[in-house]
Amino acid sequence: MFTIFHFIFEYFSLPKKYSSYRKIPECNPSDYFRYPSSLQDVLDIVQEAIARNTTVKAFGSRHSQTDIICTDGIPVDTMRLNWMNLNPDNSVTLGAGVTLHDATTFLKFRGRAFKTTPAYGNITIGGAIGTGAHGSSLIHHSSISSQVLRLGHTLD
Ligand SMILES: Cc1cc2nc3c(=O)[nH]c(=O)nc-3n(C[C@H](O)[C@H](O)[C@H](O)COP(=O)(O)OP(=O)(O)OC[C@H]3O[C@@H](n4cnc5c(N)ncnc54)[C@H](O)[C@@H]3O)c2cc1C
Repeated sequence: MFTIFHFIFEYFSLPKKYSSYRKIPECNPSDYFRYPSSLQDVLDIVQEAIARNTTVKAFGSRHSQTDIICTDGIPVDTMRLNWMNLNPDNSVTLGAGVTLHDATTFLKFRGRAFKTTPAYGNITIGGAIGTGAHGSSLIHHSSISSQVLRLGHTLD
């Protein structure tokens, strides 16, 4: 009985294969998904990967439809890195997993906005910065990354 429950838990809550939001490409990592919700969680995952001599790949909404979202090692879903804070200098601090839709809504209710955005709202800040996602403007630099003032990151 325990074995059956154990199998069901692993099968349903810890996906291993994944793809973009479409069915391609198919990624076959060696490890289960991780869902960090803090910077410490991210550090722990990276340190685990170093100790095991494997790789880590963070991704957001998986709206990039190439193998840039794939890893042989540990796949890291950033959906829980979703904090949004207004800073005293009128900048905002956004977790990498915040979607563009949630970020623009957060800014709107505080009388602020991005200068330009990509067309689609269900992509993450991390994914947009990672791919240079952009809108279009004759006046402003049009990428999300060009609007970043400070960036925190974890390297392995
Ligand atoms: C319907 C649709 C409309 C689109 N419209 C536009 C548009 O108008 N303009 C435009 O420029 N693009 C557009 N795109 C492309 C889209 O902006 C990019 O594919 C973007 O990367 C998707 O964000 P994501 O959260 O899905 O990132 P993912 O596809 O999940 O990841 C993209 C890359 O970023 C890396 N990454 C993600 N998060 C992190 C992180 N926290 N740390 C380190 N690396 C990370 C991943 O490893 C991967 O290499 C569109 C895509 C779709 C499907």
